[in-house]
Amino acid sequence: MGFDCGFDIYPRLEATAVNKETYRRFLDEIIRTYGDVYDKEGRRADGKVLDMPTDSDHCDKVYVWFMVGECPHMPSNPDRCDYFLRFSSKISGRLTTPAEPYIRSVHKIARKYFGSRVHFWHEMNETGDERQWGYYDWREVHDASKKLRVLETGRELDLTNRAWEERGETKSTPLDTTATGLEQPCAANPPQASNLVQDYGSSGSALDQLRIDVEGNVYAIRSDPRPFLGIARTNVLPLGSEAREGGLFLGASRINHSCRHNAQNTWNANIGRLTIHALSDIEEGQEITISYLSRRMEHAERQRFLKEKFYFDCRCDLCMLPLAQREESDLRLRKIQSIDDALGDLDETTSDYDAGLHLVRTMLRLLEEEGVWDAGVPRAYYDAFQIAIANGDEARAKIFAERSYAARVIIEGKDSPESARLKLLADRPAQHWLYETCLDSPQGISPPPQETDGMEFDDWIWRENEWSKQPATSSVNDPWDVFGEDL
Ligand SMILES: [Zn+2]
Repeated sequence: MGFDCGFDIYPRLEATAVNKETYRRFLDEIIRTYGDVYDKEGRRADGKVLDMPTDSDHCDKVYVWFMVGECPHMPSNPDRCDYFLRFSSKISGRLTTPAEPYIRSVHKIARKYFGSRVHFWHEMNETGDERQWGYYDWREVHDASKKLRVLETGRELDLTNRAWEERGETKSTPLDTTATGLEQPCAANPPQASNLVQDYGSSGSALDQLRIDVEGNVYAIRSDPRPFLGIARTNVLPLGSEAREGGLFLGASRINHSCRHNAQNTWNANIGRLTIHALSDIEEGQEITISYLSRRMEHAERQRFLKEKFYFDCRCDLCMLPLAQREESDLRLRKIQSIDDALGDLDETTSDYDAGLHLVRTMLRLLEEEGVWDAGVPRAYYDAFQIAIANGDEARAKIFAERSYAARVIIEGKDSPESARLKLLADRPAQHWLYETCLDSPQGISPPPQETDGMEFDDWIWRENEWSKQPATSSVNDPWDVFGEDL
């Protein structure tokens, strides 16, 4: 579940003397850079990030391991540089998110040594010039790994003696959850797709034209002693959801923030423009708002974040709710985050099909109740797609991909790279690398009902009947109990 990021060395290095020497110098720099780094979110008890063949308790000398996330790794022997195909990890879950900064910084080092052979990829990539999946399929990567192990140790991997194995390191999250009766259909009430409010080309340097206004949720840039830096820092909008770069836009940078925003800003690398799409109907004269938050946050954290980064106290509709309702909202947001984390940590090859779908459905219901219609919606449907396709269930996978696509189009438009990718998946779901990878798929998956809407169809999509047959388990002490309380 979730999504991966990493980089591939493509075309593959040949094991020439020059390449071996280059790889040795690359490894030296890696060890110099990370040898003394400790990370409390790492996998080792002592927090040490690098796991080296020279460590006394090293479990696998074939690789140098980064003990974060899914433990990305690289061959430890420079003579085997031709087996360095990929450095990657899942990065979307509670346990795997810490891997991303390491992947990005190792990628930079790799570029220094291997140049244009190094290709960064990110499954949720929206920057257009980079791929969403790697240059090899996973079978090639696994085969190379197997072969390298035989070359180096004379035998294949003995799973009983290994702590980690590619893509299998993340423990699947226990899905002991308790159902609390029937859920309502989760379909949100999406606005029409023709909701492009505006798109903006990159701005010039007319910084002084930006409005300076300390009323409401507008950047209080006067409070910054370094005005130009202040203007840049508080007005740039990110160029892609994972991008480190931002752009200053004379129009879009003036759009105010709301924690319950009615529009979405997206950098569309396909057309080289920032787009603003309406997320709901906007009345004439009603203010258009976007979110400045970097992720979903509860009230206190939102206030802290906006004060620190943008120097204002948020007085949006959500933040001004009466205390009791705000606490309800916070509770819902907490639950949404719990499910998001659980889905991110889910291992699609071993997890329970029906429980996984039930989690996604619950999250969509919570998002709808919270009035959220943002990138969380297409992401949730994409999660459902991954669960279905891993179980070889093409019929449902196709529908989930279509729903993810439709939701993505509302947020970003048809011409965004992510929308295009989802369209491809909806057309050919079985081409996804997770297809039929689940080890324990249910037998005899039922065909869809005749009617393609209504409760019956909804129950079929989410396998509600199969889920309701599962024995209810106690939710006491279950950290992922997101069903235990009524909202
Ligand atoms: Zn607010």
